[in-house]
This record gives sequence, C-alpha cells and structure tokens, in this order.
Amino acid sequence: SVQKDAIALLQLETDLRLAIGALINTPSTISEFIVYYQPIVSLSTGKITGFEALVRWQHPRRGIVYPGDFIPVAEETGLIAHLDWWVMGEACRQVRAWQKQFSSNNPLTIGINLSSRQFDQSDMVERIDEIIRDTGLESSSLKLEITETCLLENAEKAIAHFEQLKALGIKLAIDDFGTGYSSLDRLHRLPIDILKIDRSFVNSRSDETDKWEIVRTIIMLARNLGLDVVAEGVETADQLFQLKQLQCDYGQGYFFSKPVDAMAAEALLVSQFQ
Ligand code: C2E
Ligand code: CA
Ligand code: CA
Ligand code: CA
Repeated sequence: SVQKDAIALLQLETDLRLAIGALINTPSTISEFIVYYQPIVSLSTGKITGFEALVRWQHPRRGIVYPGDFIPVAEETGLIAHLDWWVMGEACRQVRAWQKQFSSNNPLTIGINLSSRQFDQSDMVERIDEIIRDTGLESSSLKLEITETCLLENAEKAIAHFEQLKALGIKLAIDDFGTGYSSLDRLHRLPIDILKIDRSFVNSRSDETDKWEIVRTIIMLARNLGLDVVAEGVETADQLFQLKQLQCDYGQGYFFSKPVDAMAAEALLVSQFQ
C-alpha cells in the first residue's frame, strides 16, 4: 500500500541518516558502507589499468543495499555529499596502497562518481586537493566521473570547478555518455579527458546495428577531441570483439569482472602482476 511504502521509505531514510552520520562523527569505526571496485581494462593489452569505486551499503537487517536503492534518497536529503567524500577518501587510500604494492610504469587509476550536491560546495576543489595530499595519491591517478545530466544542471559551477581540478592534474570523465544531451560545442569547451559510453549502447547484440553505429560515432568523436573512451557494461566476448574492431581504448563490465570488494580486487591484481 501507499502508506506501507511511505513508512518503508521513512525507515530507509532514518537508517541512512544514522549510517552516514556515523561516517561523519566517528570516521575510525567500522562503517556500514563498503567500497567495491570494478576493473577497467585496456582493450589492447587486456590488463587492468584501474578501477571504478562503487559504494554498497551493508544494512544490519536488509543485507547489501545497492546504490540505485539509496543514492536517490541520499541525494534528496542532501546526505550524499558526506557519503561521497568518505568514498573518495577510502578509495584513494586503497588505490595508493595498491600502487605501492604493484608498482608499474602506468600507476593504477581510480574513478570516483561525483554527485551534483558536491558542486554546491564552494570548497569542493580544496577538499579534493586535501584528500589527494592526505593519501599521497598522484593527482593524475584520480578520475572524477560526472554524468551529462549533472553537468547540464551545474554548468556554470562545473566549468569553474573543472578548470581548477584540471590545474591540479586530475582527470575528468563524462559518465553514461550518450544518454544526455551534451552538445558538441559544450564538450569542446569543457576540460574533459574521458568519455564513458553508457552500457545501454555497449550491451547490445551484434545485429543491433543502430546501437553499434552510436558506439562507433562516440568513439570517433572522442578521437577527434583527443579523449580516451571507456565502454561500460561489456558483458560478452562478442561485445568485446566489436569494441576492439572499433578501436575503443578501455572496457568495463561483467565480462571482465563484477564490482568486487577490496580483497577480491587485490586478488585480481595479484594474478595480473605475477
Ligand atoms: P555508474 O557510475 O554508471 O556505475 C556503473 C554501474 O553499472 C554499476 O552499478 C555497476 O555495477 C554496473 N555495471 C558494471 N558493469 C556492468 C555490466 O556488465 N552489466 C550491467 N548490467 N551492469 C554493470 P551500481 O554499482 O549498482 O551503481 C549504480 C549507480 O550508482 C552508478 O552508476 C553511479 O551513478 C551510482 N553510484 C555508485 N556508487 C556511487 C558513489 O559512491 N557516489 C555516487 N554519487 N554515486 C554512486
Ligand atoms: Ca560512474
Ligand atoms: Ca556509467
Ligand atoms: Ca549510471
């Protein structure tokens, strides 16, 4: 019933407030949130070049809650920014540790999702700079992901923040590319480094030629603008084959690995580097 739904939502919101509040007040204690890591793979070498950080909520009664079920609530209540800062700190610290453990000419990168609430914070860039300095992560290893929609909603603020982030050496990615309405003109004016093609195009059968045509066009656009391309949602060998044909740079998806916890992600690195 509508009433039951309303009560359930209120309960979720209350639990979320408590869980996020615990991050702010007692950051050293064990949190209900866990950062999962999904590999991003170079399609030319087949090697993991970095990860995207994806948050999970280990709810004491419900079990694992996925971002789709609590990020919208966290956004509405304004709690999201606290959670996002925690995720960024946690993921940067972890990846810095892996960089030391698995040293390579191309240090591992970490992709972090930004929410539009973070753009409302005038000290956003300072906070990111602080996390980089605290964790010792090279700024070029950090890739901030922002959706087209979030960009459009925050155009002025985004451009100002992005220029400062760029000056720090941080990389910027447009997430879910193809689902919004970024004009070419806008793309050209933004200091963007990476396009992540939305999985609704990538995760297609080979006979869905219209979708592959979109993928091909995005890859060409990226090449002309000098941007790297990541194909999201690669699930099959056939999709990988198509992407290689189109000379896509990177892939991410269940075909390579689902998002996994830090221990499992480390095991993937161990087998790659041995
Ligand atoms: P996203 O940034 O587009 O992240 C990719 C989503 O696609 C993840 O869902 C991932 O598990 C899923 N995915 C990856 N490979 C495949 C595949 O091959 N097939 C399919 N069907 N799905 C795949 P997840 O982890 O449930 O996250 C959903 C969304 O929640 C993310 O979409 C992102 O927008 C948001 N999100 C996740 N973590 C955070 C966070 O820490 N902060 C913020 N602000 N948003 C987050
Ligand atoms: Ca993302
Ligand atoms: Ca995405
Ligand atoms: Ca998404």
